Amino acid sequence: MSKKVVVLAETRDNSLRNVSFEAIGAAKTISEGGEVVVALFGSDVSAVADELFEYGADRVVIVEHPHLKYYTADGYNQAFLAVVEQENPDAIVFGHTALGKDLSPKVASRLDTGLISDVTSIEGSGDSAEFIRPIYSGKAFERVVSDSKPLFITVRPNNIAPLDQQVGKGGSTEKLTVDITNLRTIVENVVRKATDGVDLSEAKVVVAGGRGVKSSEGFEPLHELAKLLGGAVGASRGACDADYCDYSLQIGQTGKVVTPDLYIAAGISGAIQHLAGMSNSKIIVAINKDPEANIFKVADYGIVGDLFDVVPLLIEEIKALKI
Ligand code: FAD
Repeated sequence: MSKKVVVLAETRDNSLRNVSFEAIGAAKTISEGGEVVVALFGSDVSAVADELFEYGADRVVIVEHPHLKYYTADGYNQAFLAVVEQENPDAIVFGHTALGKDLSPKVASRLDTGLISDVTSIEGSGDSAEFIRPIYSGKAFERVVSDSKPLFITVRPNNIAPLDQQVGKGGSTEKLTVDITNLRTIVENVVRKATDGVDLSEAKVVVAGGRGVKSSEGFEPLHELAKLLGGAVGASRGACDADYCDYSLQIGQTGKVVTPDLYIAAGISGAIQHLAGMSNSKIIVAINKDPEANIFKVADYGIVGDLFDVVPLLIEEIKALKI
């Protein structure tokens, strides 16, 4: 039976995050020919609605309010519940991002429905859809079916492919007025640390360094390699604890979870807590001078050697390929 599915789009600096398109892809599978409605929140976001249609949205409901310029749990909760009240969806899809992880349990509890979080793939479609999600820090996967109404899932970035972009495909946009009140927090401004521009959670290539990198200067070749590959730099907690880099780069059980197409781990031993954040990457390349390092157990390609020799060689080779 075809379903109406509501997706929450995520923006950053008034641009759509890629996970929004992946969530629409998941919603299409669930809707089985039904309608995919995208909820878009912000203070001045209408301009990005067209891109949502190009990736499969049938309709976009925009809620604009000065208090939605930056995410707050209270503000987004009120706006999303208003969209749910209007649309009465059969299913809801969020990205499994920091925002999605914070908001989805609140919304699920208000709707008194179940939540299948961190979905990495969907088998089947419509009523027979089965949701696959990692458990035990990625050591096993479970297959979940649900008859909750609405069905509610969050999708892990970089796992579910978005639909092919159909440039110029339009759709209908409507504005919903929501009175955002009683906020416990009002965010006036967000100051972000300067980054290389690629969001670590959504990066297709991650070059991560560990304690073996030995200093913050030691991270410079990793930044160069990441930039050449159009990727982002990550780190183990060992490197963050040693103050070689910022904690915002930490990958693992208590850091970010990433699933890039290519993960290069340099000077990382492969502790279980680190693997929890990266072992589902599509291709893993490990560089470590210890041939017994645990990271080689999950690596597709292992390079036993000194990262200070290997990384510059990789940079040289990639530069040569690009000429
Ligand atoms: P090390 O284990 O010290 O490994 C350094 C590696 O570098 C070694 O394998 C060494 O052979 C190699 N090396 C050294 N020099 C070179 C060189 N020149 N060239 C090549 N290789 C070299 N860790 C995380 O990463 N993420 C988490 O989210 C996380 N959460 C945790 C939560 C809890 C509750 C606990 C208890 C721990 C957590 N940890 C986490 C820490 C984790 O257990 C490890 O201590 C940490 O991952 C080790 O970091 P590392 O691999 O960089 O350092």
